[in-house]
Amino acid sequence: MTQKSRNTAPFLANRYLRAGALAVGLGWASSASAGFQVVALGVHGGVEEGNLTSYLLRDESQKQFLALDAGSVLPGISKALEKGSFPQVTAANSAPLTPQGAVFRNLISGYFISHGHLDHLAGLIISSPQDSKKTIYGSTETINTLRQYYFNWKVWPNFSDSGSGQRLGTYRLNAQRFGQRFSLANVGLNGVIYPLSHGGVGSSMLLVSTAATAQKQESFAFFGDTGADKLEKSQDLNAIWRVLGEEVKQHRLKGIIIETSYPNGIPDKQLFGHLTPTLLLGELAHLQQYAGGEGSLKGLKVVISHIKPSLTAGADPRADIIRQLEQGNQLGVNFIFMQQGDSQTF
Ligand SMILES: [Zn+2]
Ligand SMILES: [Zn+2]
Repeated sequence: MTQKSRNTAPFLANRYLRAGALAVGLGWASSASAGFQVVALGVHGGVEEGNLTSYLLRDESQKQFLALDAGSVLPGISKALEKGSFPQVTAANSAPLTPQGAVFRNLISGYFISHGHLDHLAGLIISSPQDSKKTIYGSTETINTLRQYYFNWKVWPNFSDSGSGQRLGTYRLNAQRFGQRFSLANVGLNGVIYPLSHGGVGSSMLLVSTAATAQKQESFAFFGDTGADKLEKSQDLNAIWRVLGEEVKQHRLKGIIIETSYPNGIPDKQLFGHLTPTLLLGELAHLQQYAGGEGSLKGLKVVISHIKPSLTAGADPRADIIRQLEQGNQLGVNFIFMQQGDSQTF
């Protein structure tokens, strides 16, 4: 930043604040989309509780977030508050709740759960006794798993609005059919869920779009765990790349979050429905074909999630995965490695 721009920054910020206030007063803010904010509440795929897959996503013109998976929730909110990722939340305006409680109860309006594995929903289950009323969205398979295997009074009380025994009703379980657009309550976004193949478990991807009333429609894709099509003997990713290719062509796709669980070199049969850098790059090459060919993915923001930590002394799978993705990155995509508590705009 130059000396001049540094000096004018506070003045510009003031001007934008005033323009923003005016826009809210005249009702413009709700129709203009400013992009998306993502806050990482947890980034790992298993092994150590406290930092498991969960991201908050918000249309920047809206107040509330949708949670994308919920492996770790409250520990991630604490970390994000420490890092200044929720500047709108203070001790004073949170009262009588703590800032952590205020983000949890007031800023998260619902959850999308990609599949039924614990590392994607443990935080939601554990924190449920103190949660506010929310909707949980998912595929029929995922919602059935929640109902049958978690909220069943055996592993946990039934905090949902359906299923066995007394229904405590904190969560409205909302099962959606693949490929069908639905409205995500209170966040001003629409969603479409697509199936993913994950070593025998039905996983899914959520494509969110800003509401049709927005001046310019924008979208963001969140992938649950997935293997590569050729190893899964599946066409699920291929079908998704076709859809996202069109989103790229229309300049709507602002970013994606997708897994890379292991560094290269893991034998295929030990992947259990996950991706490595080589497999992800191969899949993204298919997206590039649908998006218009060479160069069409340049600068596309791709957040890498679900890296599995290693307990072997000296091993650093995160560093290996970063290096292997960057070395093979002929597509020119912008790989992003968020840590727990980080906030990023798209
Ligand atoms: Zn997982
Ligand atoms: Zn999984």
